[in-house]
Amino acid sequence: MIIAVDGPAASGKGTVARALAKHYRLPHLDTGLLYRAVAENVHRLDLDPTKEADAVAASNFDDSLLDDPVLRSDEAGQRASIVSAHPLIRAALLQRQRKFAHQEGGAVLDGRDIGTVIAPEADAKLFVKATPQIRARRRHAELKAQGSTLSFDKVLADIRARDQRDMGRDAAPLVMAADAGILDTSFLSIEAAVKRAIELVERQLRLKAANG
Ligand code: C5P
Repeated sequence: MIIAVDGPAASGKGTVARALAKHYRLPHLDTGLLYRAVAENVHRLDLDPTKEADAVAASNFDDSLLDDPVLRSDEAGQRASIVSAHPLIRAALLQRQRKFAHQEGGAVLDGRDIGTVIAPEADAKLFVKATPQIRARRRHAELKAQGSTLSFDKVLADIRARDQRDMGRDAAPLVMAADAGILDTSFLSIEAAVKRAIELVERQLRLKAANG
């Protein structure tokens, strides 16, 4: 069984995807980490993330980089949304994600284009969203707990800039798959969001079984 979870930055899609993976006992891939790793490699090699050839030159990162906490920073997320707009970078990471999705038993993947490009054939699809203000509030609290002094306004501006880049790019932009279930986490606790996510997945699985 493949479950695709998409949505904008700080919408709660990662938390929901991890909870679904635990619930259904499936492996989980946070695909944003792959783009963050390429972006970090570009940065370490002192290359230009806006140049596709530079990003391609840095796309063969060592897998140990995926465990580096530096990838979780706000800067890494911003840089990732720059390199992820390059079609050749998306192509370079495509097979790895498809292979993960199609492993025996299935998987949960979260990102921006899982239900539309990576696994359009997924058994269940969720599009997780929340207002920019609420996402910025969550991200601000998270960064503050990590010792960051970034202001709320800067975090909100970063979230809006990333939304604009992710939704406005030509290559696999962030759009909701037509057959995805919408999960608005704006006013939900984590527990309530996870409960609703499981209900939405169950409903899609029932529909799929009924339609053969
Ligand atoms: O999900 P996360 O915030 O870690 O993603 C970082 C960036 O990587 C996103 O802003 C987006 O530009 C890019 N991304 C993408 N496609 C995915 C996952 C992430 O373009 N499937």
